[in-house]
Amino acid sequence: MLTKRIEDAINEQINAELWSAYLYLSMSLNFEHMGRSGIANWYRIQFQEEQAHALALIDYVHARDGRVELKPIAGVPTSWESARDAFVDTLEHENKVTALIHNLYAAAEEEKDFATRQKLNTFIAEQVEEEENVRKIIDDLTLVGNDGVGLFQIDRELGQRTFVAPQL
Ligand code: MG
Repeated sequence: MLTKRIEDAINEQINAELWSAYLYLSMSLNFEHMGRSGIANWYRIQFQEEQAHALALIDYVHARDGRVELKPIAGVPTSWESARDAFVDTLEHENKVTALIHNLYAAAEEEKDFATRQKLNTFIAEQVEEEENVRKIIDDLTLVGNDGVGLFQIDRELGQRTFVAPQL
């Protein structure tokens, strides 16, 4: 059984993951409209990953005999001028998500909720991976600047990404 504090905090985290999904879908649409189908693909998969994070937490709440209550999902920005702008926003957002997960972990420690701590370990590792991936893409985009051929190559590369369900 989850304590009320942890149940509420995981519910908040579920909302944050769904907001992330919504943000990345919005970014995907933005780049689709700009004709950058590779970047649009990358964000579409990111959208799927965030939904998988939310579902993993939902399943966990149920496994602990808790209750999930979906809250409204706040609006998201709808336009980004460049790929670099979007990826910088993505990194900033993922840093915030990491902080939320760390706060949740700290709360689980205070509540002596060892199962939640263990569950969150996979999320903590996932955030390290997310941040590293995004930082690498920002580095590549910084390197090519406004070079059309470079941007074309990055778009093609990001178009190769396929969805692999995260093991959470
Ligand atoms: Mg996430």
